[in-house]
Amino acid sequence: MRGLALGDAFGETWFFRPAEVLETALVERWVKDGEWLWTDDTAMALSLLQILDRHDRVDQDALAAAFAAAYAADPYRCYGASMHDVLLAIGQGEDWEAVTRRQFDGMGSWGNGAAMRVAPLGAWFADDLDTVVSEAVRSAVVTHAHPEATAGAVAVAVAAALSVRGVPGDEFIAAVVDRVPDSEVASRLRRADRIASSSDPRHVAGMLGCGKQISAVDTVPYAIWCAAAHLDDLTEALWATALAGGDIDTTCAIVGGIIGARTGLTGVPADWLSSCEPLPAWVDDISDQP
Ligand SMILES: [Mg+2]
Repeated sequence: MRGLALGDAFGETWFFRPAEVLETALVERWVKDGEWLWTDDTAMALSLLQILDRHDRVDQDALAAAFAAAYAADPYRCYGASMHDVLLAIGQGEDWEAVTRRQFDGMGSWGNGAAMRVAPLGAWFADDLDTVVSEAVRSAVVTHAHPEATAGAVAVAVAAALSVRGVPGDEFIAAVVDRVPDSEVASRLRRADRIASSSDPRHVAGMLGCGKQISAVDTVPYAIWCAAAHLDDLTEALWATALAGGDIDTTCAIVGGIIGARTGLTGVPADWLSSCEPLPAWVDDISDQP
């Protein structure tokens, strides 16, 4: 959860840069002064974590209610365009399944929102990959009914679980794909598995996407490739992930969640930790549990 929030807040700082200096700032690693605020990725992950803490599984009605309540309390977290409608309607008492299914002319959302929040769930159930997969699906469909969004969530949750389990980088992507349902997400992950971990992320983003379409398909394979290339170094992974641009808060939230599940915040510079907006105090109580 802390790795995800750090990645989200770090990634969001790049949206304050003028476009003409963005690449230079990323290459030269200019760190933003002042507070780094986290966004919808962290807000939704906190709701999911709270439901896991209360129920030890994804209670979908409770999760939908938690998402809607968090949105109503603080709607200015850069939620995706369709999520405003979804979370407002659920908050007004509509059935989440009906609301979610009618998005995008009945196809459901294939955005990256189900994937961006799910890494803590993968860590939570890390000792049982079947449960990781089934609970990731249950968490995804509360807001994202399209199978590609679900596949993206499964991939990220499995990646976080494998990260906890210490699977090495050169086996990582293949082990993730093994658990992802047939989809464009899975197909792009197979492509990612053939790209050398030493490649330039900007080049990799050209092949896989880096979230510019804010879809699961053009976000998740890139993020998992970046995570696999730096599994033991959260800070380096976030720099590499951000370098390609795109939906940086979300790609970095996913990478931060996956790697943080293994490393915690070890090695993260002190000024990053003091810049990052704190998480609510209840998260500390969860961390203390075995
Ligand atoms: Mg965001």
